[in-house]
Amino acid sequence: ALPALGIDIGGTKVAGGVVLPDGTVTDTARRPTPGKSVAATEDAIAAVVDELAERHGGPLVGVGVGAAGWFDRTGDTVLFSPHLAWRNQPLRKELSDRLQRPLWVGNDADAAAWAEYRYGAARGSSLMLMITLGTGIGGGMVIDGRLQRGAHGVAGEYGHMRVVPDGRLCACGNRGCWEQYASGNALGTTAREVAHSSPAAAAHLLDRVDGDPDRITGEDVARAAADGDPLAGELLAEVGTWLGQGIADLSAVLDPEVVVIGGGVSVLGETVLGPARQRLERALPGRGFRPGPRIVAAELGAQAGLVGAADLVRRAVCEGDA
Ligand code: BGC
Ligand code: ZN
Repeated sequence: ALPALGIDIGGTKVAGGVVLPDGTVTDTARRPTPGKSVAATEDAIAAVVDELAERHGGPLVGVGVGAAGWFDRTGDTVLFSPHLAWRNQPLRKELSDRLQRPLWVGNDADAAAWAEYRYGAARGSSLMLMITLGTGIGGGMVIDGRLQRGAHGVAGEYGHMRVVPDGRLCACGNRGCWEQYASGNALGTTAREVAHSSPAAAAHLLDRVDGDPDRITGEDVARAAADGDPLAGELLAEVGTWLGQGIADLSAVLDPEVVVIGGGVSVLGETVLGPARQRLERALPGRGFRPGPRIVAAELGAQAGLVGAADLVRRAVCEGDA
């Protein structure tokens, strides 16, 4: 079996890799995501594909593209994307004209879910949920060995469950969505709020941005936490607590065996997962009388999306629908 290319298009970067059938990534490339322009995003995808294909030299089974968008059931069209410019975009046709290779396209977190089920932390599980913490919260699920897409292709958008009535505005058009409280962006939003209202507590964070509270990002908070800044540690624990609460609620609906946490924020590991587990223990409906899910870090880390997309194009080619 041949290697495939896997591409993961998130809110901030287009990441690609050459992926072997056993899930090993042998080469990677990346570009920033040009958030506002559809054409420039396609240019970035094509540039990553060309760079990887050229270095690889040999034959490839195809290109799998997981993108932070809501796809229709066929995978032909991106209906909507909260963080990118796509609105009813015929992405599959455009990419297939451009790349001239067998293609799988679908949601980034769905691809990550598939990778963790096939090769990672959820191998052999009967019902797994994937949660990617990045720009937003991405979601996917594999039930009895099948990736679930929903009736219209948009299943598993957990990030847009309303967790706070009349809460923070979300790019999906609603207020109070889960991803406004538990994601990389949420981390930045909360840190900026704190820096405005209590600059003394945020002194360490403010040092990183020349004293301008509006420039603090989620990444700054992550770095500050790694340096031992107590405020940053608290902000991460808060994200973890929101994460655990959402998992408790999802458990009421889906009763998962394992919930895998991936995406950029997942590099923070136990700083976030510890508080998530604590909250789950206190918030699981029927706690004490029923089992709950395990919460584990993605074994494939932030590469889960591209690894999954590569396997999904390999499968699509084998089944004759790429
Ligand atoms: C989108 C998901 C996407 C995630 C990426 C969410 O807002 O709804 O489709 O996977 O952001 O961070
Ligand atoms: Zn939303």
